[in-house]
Amino acid sequence: MSHIDMRQFMCLSDNYGLIIHDSVTGATASIDAPDADAVEAQLKKFGRQLTHIFTTHHHADHVDGNLRLKELFGCKIIGPKAEADKIPGIDIQVSGGDKFIWSHREVMVYDCPGHTSGHIAFGIANEFSLFAGDTVFAMGCGRVIEGTLEQMYHSVNQFKTLSPSTYVYCGHEYTEANCSFALTLEPGNRHLQNRAVQVAAKRARGEMTCPTTIAEELQTNPYMRCNSPEIRSVLGMETATDVEVFAEIRTRKNNFKG
Ligand code: ZN
Ligand code: FE
Repeated sequence: MSHIDMRQFMCLSDNYGLIIHDSVTGATASIDAPDADAVEAQLKKFGRQLTHIFTTHHHADHVDGNLRLKELFGCKIIGPKAEADKIPGIDIQVSGGDKFIWSHREVMVYDCPGHTSGHIAFGIANEFSLFAGDTVFAMGCGRVIEGTLEQMYHSVNQFKTLSPSTYVYCGHEYTEANCSFALTLEPGNRHLQNRAVQVAAKRARGEMTCPTTIAEELQTNPYMRCNSPEIRSVLGMETATDVEVFAEIRTRKNNFKG
């Protein structure tokens, strides 16, 4: 099977842009479209024509480039059915459990309500890739704005069963702050301590810290570790349910000053 090239870049203040490209078929998709100029510049740099946009949710920093890129390239926009009325230029509406073929590969759609009520993620199992939008971040998860904390718990934790080697592409570079917060909950987690050192070094060099992997998140992401005895003891929630622990962690994060 042909190779898919993944080009990730920073845009706006802390958004990730990502362009995936199949050199054999020429199929080229932008995962979200935070900024048309930034996406166009990347396409030009590598001589690519945009054929698709995969939209995860309706926030401006994920859809602002849709109409301009569609005008430039005539690309097809695939996005969440549940918030289709808020996705500029949407052509194809999808929701959790749907599968579609993109450049000979099966793309799986996951419902991820919480950050927004219709948020979706896209997975390409053949490429060990998950495009998580603002649902999962490195050592973090998105702010719960439209949905409930319980929905967000399920949205994040459904990915624990993906292959551990799956690369997780996130919507934002929030890694350092997430890591500082995670350390307050699990100061004794060696994986987290090691990751903090690696992340600080990468950021000091101005490098991106994503994609992450499911394996790394299972070891260090507090939102996937609600059953950790250390987290539960720090929170004084030894007998609570995982959903309750998740809700407490996500609520504390809103007030955390790293
Ligand atoms: Zn968002
Ligand atoms: Fe965002």
